Amino acid sequence: MAICVAISLLAALLLILLAVIAIRTALFKSKQLSVSAIASCPVNIAAAAERLSGAIQVPTVSSLDESQVDFEQLARFREYLSAAFPRVHSSLDKQVINNHGLLYTWKGSDPAMKPILLLAHQDVVPVTVEGWTHPPFSGAIADGYVWGRGTLDDKGSLMGMLEAVEFLIKDGFRPSRSVCLAFGFDEEVGGRQGAGKIAELLKSEGQQFEFVIDEGLVAVSGMFPGIIAWIALVGTAEKGYLSLELSVQATGGHAAQPPRETAAGIIAKAVAKLQAKPFPARLTGPAAELFSYLGPEMPFPNKMIFANMWLFSPLVKRLLSAKPATDASIRTTTAPTMLSGSAQDNVLPTLATAVVNFRILQGESVQSVIKRVKAVIGDPRVKVSPILKTIFEPSPASSTDSPGFAIVSRTIRETMPGTLVAPMLVPARTDCTYFTGLSPCCFRFVPERIPGNELSSIHGVNERISLDSYAEMINFYLRLMQNSCT
Ligand SMILES: [Zn+2]
Repeated sequence: MAICVAISLLAALLLILLAVIAIRTALFKSKQLSVSAIASCPVNIAAAAERLSGAIQVPTVSSLDESQVDFEQLARFREYLSAAFPRVHSSLDKQVINNHGLLYTWKGSDPAMKPILLLAHQDVVPVTVEGWTHPPFSGAIADGYVWGRGTLDDKGSLMGMLEAVEFLIKDGFRPSRSVCLAFGFDEEVGGRQGAGKIAELLKSEGQQFEFVIDEGLVAVSGMFPGIIAWIALVGTAEKGYLSLELSVQATGGHAAQPPRETAAGIIAKAVAKLQAKPFPARLTGPAAELFSYLGPEMPFPNKMIFANMWLFSPLVKRLLSAKPATDASIRTTTAPTMLSGSAQDNVLPTLATAVVNFRILQGESVQSVIKRVKAVIGDPRVKVSPILKTIFEPSPASSTDSPGFAIVSRTIRETMPGTLVAPMLVPARTDCTYFTGLSPCCFRFVPERIPGNELSSIHGVNERISLDSYAEMINFYLRLMQNSCT
């Protein structure tokens, strides 16, 4: 009798559980804005491609070693922009900051409206791999593409913004709010001299922007199970950046009579402890929001899982942890990158060091990471010192309920037909880091559709942008300014 009651009770509970899962799945509605696609790009794309080609032909390569930078090329690039976009240069206010940073201001008619800020960078990474179909600085236009270093990262975007402004001026458009364009020149090596100085100036003037948009993520396809459509991934936050040097000093001596633990052994043990105890997985902020945007677009049963994260989140976290790319979106990562000890095989080290790189997830900080690292190592012989040159706290997450996100989403849906929009955490850092205090809404998205097999061309070989994608990009910036400024 008692067993029968227990079985009935269990069956009733199971039914309730299934009902809750089914109701939540049915209520898990699409977050995609319903808008009509607008007409395709009005700019003459053949002429725009020629201008982009010209920009690629100026090799504005940045380098960590400043003595290796050919600053003449940045001066040449500035002159090139003046000649290519005469209306921009006669109608907008242009400031050159810290010798090569560029800040353009297109004054709006309504001073009460907060301006918007579009960012891109003038520099490109060097070419280290051979095997290009067309030489990397040829700017060749062939097979429906503009080829060369910078077409995707990030001159395509820079030129696309200027194409949009040039066209709008010619078309008689007058923005209600001011539009600012800022182009740093050392993004690929940290961005301090370019974007860093531009942001400093804007902060000293007390400027505030409705939203800031920079590179970061793009539109991708085939990356999420069950979704065939292109997905425009809009970065709403960046992880923080911290490298810690671990060091152990010892007296040294001959390797024939070593102590039980050498400095190298102690360091190795500390690194092993850090690897064995990764930071906890947390499905939070933009990583969680990504699935609230993509879940409703997925087929059953994926949709059911993401509609019921209260139940399935441990399973989702386990699946995401299985691959480095997705694991990085749910935890602060730990990457030992450098090790050194004695210079000779039979000499005990007097100093052994290791460098461990951390990418910090929202909810943690530089200080909390250092505290945890010391606790996990738990050995006072190991000194833990931050490498001060490159420390960034994780950025705040920009709200997807903001007017800025609504404008960006609408513009994507209008100019990139059939594309879904989803917020996401950016695993690397961009120039946008410097601008976080200047607006509560900092988005990292370049309107490029990049097929999975072409993603590696960024910083790699055969970087190129299709003319169709470039036309779509110009149209996006054009429409973004119209949507923000009317
Ligand atoms: Zn870039």
